Amino acid sequence: MLMANEQGMGRHSSLRNSTSVPKDGMELTKDQIDRQIACHECDALLDLKPLTKGQRAVCPRCGGLIQVARDDHLTRALAFAISGLLLLPIANAYPFLGFERGGLENMFRLPQAAQILFQNDAQFLGIIILVLIVVLPAVLLALVLGLVIPLIRGRNAPWLIPAGRLLYGMNTWNMVEVFVLGVIVSLVKIMKLATVVIGISFWAYIGFALCLIGAISHLDRLSVWQAIDRVSSR
Ligand SMILES: [Zn+2]
Repeated sequence: MLMANEQGMGRHSSLRNSTSVPKDGMELTKDQIDRQIACHECDALLDLKPLTKGQRAVCPRCGGLIQVARDDHLTRALAFAISGLLLLPIANAYPFLGFERGGLENMFRLPQAAQILFQNDAQFLGIIILVLIVVLPAVLLALVLGLVIPLIRGRNAPWLIPAGRLLYGMNTWNMVEVFVLGVIVSLVKIMKLATVVIGISFWAYIGFALCLIGAISHLDRLSVWQAIDRVSSR
């Protein structure tokens, strides 16, 4: 449901300046100034009206999600984050994929993908793969935990603001879904050449990727920053 009215362009830093200028000969009230929000996707300056439970606010210009009003978003994000962090060690510890041809089977684990690149003089690519498919997603889930646990308890914590900035900054580089899609496309091609054996880690990694997407999708920026505001002003 569309709840926001487009009023122009601007980043957060320019919001105050733009709202202090009389608009159509009228000064904006304090309530109107407090409701001003810039779209995270296209920077459109929006007048966000209070939402009731279950409503979604989307940007009228780009369709980007601004806020979802629900009271269980933090507990849902926590459940997804805990599940994801339980699945990640399984995804790394057991065989991920294997190929069988002529009676020979060759299984490999997820960290071995990076190790193979290291052994073939592609160290930089190996590090990038390891960071993007294992380290970064794990850090994102740890940040979700660090944010939502104090917020659910209604307690302030010194790391809430840096953790929020890191989470939304690093999420731009979150590519687990791209990796999963890439693996599936590769599998379809390899199946023509050899028998593909799918290991337990493959399913664990799919579960981990879904948990990561689920955790972050329950944390729209506006609701998280409003929750941080509430606990830090106590
Ligand atoms: Zn937008």
